Amino acid sequence: MKLDIIPVTSFQQNCSLVWDEKDKSAAIIDPGGEAPKLIKRIEELGLNPKMILLTHGHLDHVGAAIKLKTHFNCEILGPAQADEYWFQMLPQQSRQFGLFEAEAFLPDRWLNREGEVIQLGELGFEVLHLPGHTPGHVGFIDHVHHIAFTGDVLFNQSIGRTDFPGGNHEDLMRSIKDKLFTLPDDTIVIAGHGPYTTVGQEKMHNPYVHG
Ligand SMILES: [Zn+2]
Repeated sequence: MKLDIIPVTSFQQNCSLVWDEKDKSAAIIDPGGEAPKLIKRIEELGLNPKMILLTHGHLDHVGAAIKLKTHFNCEILGPAQADEYWFQMLPQQSRQFGLFEAEAFLPDRWLNREGEVIQLGELGFEVLHLPGHTPGHVGFIDHVHHIAFTGDVLFNQSIGRTDFPGGNHEDLMRSIKDKLFTLPDDTIVIAGHGPYTTVGQEKMHNPYVHG
């Protein structure tokens, strides 16, 4: 598995490119904006994007999804349908976030079935439901390479906000403690913002998940 992380927009949201080395089939995870920059990088790497995966419906995670879908002719998968209102509210989100203009859209398919494995060449990503930051938030877990793409649930030394409409702190803590923290300690967590971390490191040192 190969991975490239490209921070986009003033929110420095981590867009991840993951690909299978053999056939260069790629997934674009959370393309939050700056479509031209992402397209340039994808073309430099010679990748063949097969899908766009979204962890949740916040503008800073989905802002370039439609442009990339159109450019590469690939499907948008996820999050779970409980985030539908965030997609419908994209125009309002662009005003609230002070980001670029965004039109409402819907993914090609909601990832409502937890445990579904999304295949990308020889790679597989299990869909985990991780509500709390948003109700339909999902994570994509590669159990073979011990890598988890978890959006705005768990950060290096921090956790996702739950003060947006539909946020729920108890759900978020359950997503972290009952789901992410059951993954092996050496699992690398690619967070939606900031540096990556590991499950073991956050179990030991994250000040928000103790007590
Ligand atoms: Zn978010």
